[in-house]
Amino acid sequence: MAEIVLHNTLSGKKEAFVPQTPGEVRMYSCGPTVYDFAHIGNFRTFVFQDILRRFLRLRGFRLNQVMNLTDVDDRIIANAAAAGVGIRDYTEKYAQAFFEDCKALSIEEPERWVRATDHIEDMVKLIERLREKSFTYESEGSIYYRIQKFPDYGKLSKIDLSGIQAGARVDVDRYEKESARDFALWKAPKPGEHFWETRLGKGRPGWHIECSAMAMKYLGETLDIHTGGVDLMFPHHENEIAQSEATTGKPFVCYWLHAEHLLVEGEKMSKSLGNFYTLRDLFAKGHKPSSLRFLLASVPYRRQLNFTFDGLQQAASSVERLRNFAERLAQEKFPAGNKDGMAASIEAAEKAFDAGLSDDLNTAQALAAAFDLIRETNVTMDNGKFRSGDIAQLRGFFAKFDSVFALLEDNDSEKLRALGYGGEAGGLSDTEIEKLIAERIIAKQKRDFAAADRIRKELADRGIILEDTKDGRVRWKRK
Ligand code: AMP
Ligand code: ZN
Repeated sequence: MAEIVLHNTLSGKKEAFVPQTPGEVRMYSCGPTVYDFAHIGNFRTFVFQDILRRFLRLRGFRLNQVMNLTDVDDRIIANAAAAGVGIRDYTEKYAQAFFEDCKALSIEEPERWVRATDHIEDMVKLIERLREKSFTYESEGSIYYRIQKFPDYGKLSKIDLSGIQAGARVDVDRYEKESARDFALWKAPKPGEHFWETRLGKGRPGWHIECSAMAMKYLGETLDIHTGGVDLMFPHHENEIAQSEATTGKPFVCYWLHAEHLLVEGEKMSKSLGNFYTLRDLFAKGHKPSSLRFLLASVPYRRQLNFTFDGLQQAASSVERLRNFAERLAQEKFPAGNKDGMAASIEAAEKAFDAGLSDDLNTAQALAAAFDLIRETNVTMDNGKFRSGDIAQLRGFFAKFDSVFALLEDNDSEKLRALGYGGEAGGLSDTEIEKLIAERIIAKQKRDFAAADRIRKELADRGIILEDTKDGRVRWKRK
C-alpha cells in the first residue's frame, strides 16, 4: 500500500500522514452553521470529509472524529430575533434537516456530534485561561483577543499583519483578511438578543472560541487533523489556532485540510444570482442523491468544483454504469475457471485505487481505476471470455471501492421517499418496479399485449426504461 500524503495548509506542502497515536486519528471537522438549510457547496466539503474518514478507516485507522453544529453565531442570533423565537427553537429544524441530508448523501456519522450551545461553560473556562495569560481585554462588556500578543498570528492563512493597529477591533464573526483585528471571544448582548449569564457577565460566545473549546475538550490539546472549507481558513481557523495555542503553549493541529469551493456554472453560488441550491432543490427537480454524491466526490478536494446540470446528469450515468456492472456480476452465469490476466488487472486496479486516494485523496484517479476495470471486464464478458473464478476477487475490489465511495447500493428511491420526494421513479421503489415488470411478463405469456404495453408505458412515464435481453430477461434502469 502506498504511503498516505496529505496537503497541509500550514506548511503549504504535501506531507506524509503520521498520527500522534499509532493507528488512531483524532479529527475535528467544522460542521454547519444551522441558520438555514445547508447548500450543495457546504456538502462538497462534508462529502470530502466523509471520503477522508472512510479512506483512513479502510487503511486500518481507528477514527475519532468530532463534528460541531454551530448553533449560535451572528446569523443565528439575528434570524432567531427576527422570527421572535429562542435560538434552540430556531436552529432545531435546520439541525434535523442537516442530519437527513447527510443520510441522503451517505455521509457517515462522526463519532461525536457537538453543539456549541451545550458547551458554553467550556468556552467560558477557555476565555478565563486566556485572560489569566493576558491575551484578552474588555471593552463595553465584550471580551477581545489581543492578536499582537500572539506572534504566530497569520501562520495558517499567511496574512500580512504589518498594517494592523494595536487595539483595532472587529465584532462580527465573519470578516475578510483586510479587516484582521482583535476579535471578540465574548460578546455583550445587544437589546433584545439572547444571552447567557456567566462568570464573564451576560453575553454569548464568539464563533471561533466554540470550535477551540469543543475540539480540545474531546480530542486533546493537539489534534491530528482539522478540516473545513477554504473560506474558514481566515479568520475562523486562524483564530482557533491563536486561542488554542496561546492557552496550551502546544501546537493545536498537526494537519490542516481545506476543501476548495464549489461554483455553480462557473460563478459563486448566491441567492441573488438564482444559482443557489440546497439538496432539496435538486431532489425536487428529480435528481438522485447518488448522482450528487458522485459529482461532489469526483473532483479532488483541492480543485474547485464547477457544478453544472450536465455534470450532474453525467454523474447519474456513471453511477448507473457502476450499479449495472455490480448487477451483471451478481446475475449473469459464467463458465468455471479463471480468465488469463484477469487477476493481474484487478490487482492493478486495486493498486491504482489505493495510490490515488493515498495521494492527498485523489478521488479522480481512484474512480478512474474502477471504471477502467469495469470497461475491461465488460468487454471480456461480452466476448464470452469471463470466468466465474474471478468473481470473488472482483467483488473484493468493489467492496473496498464502496467502503469509500458508497454508491453501489441502489437505494435512491428509498432515500427520496424518506425525505418526501417522488424522485425520477415517481416514487416507485425497486421492489415495486420489479413487481410491475413481473406482471408485464405474465401479461405477455398470456398474450395480453395491450396490458404488457400499458405497464411498459406506465414505467416509462415514471422514468423507468425496460430493456429485453437476448436471453429473455428484462433489465431496467432509471432515466
Ligand atoms: P457554514 O455553514 O457556513 O459554517 O459552512 C459549512 C461548511 O461548508 C464549511 O466547512 C465551509 O467552509 C463550507 N463551504 C461553504 N461554502 C462552500 C462552497 N461554496 N463550496 C465548498 N464548501 C463550502
Ligand atoms: Zn469551526
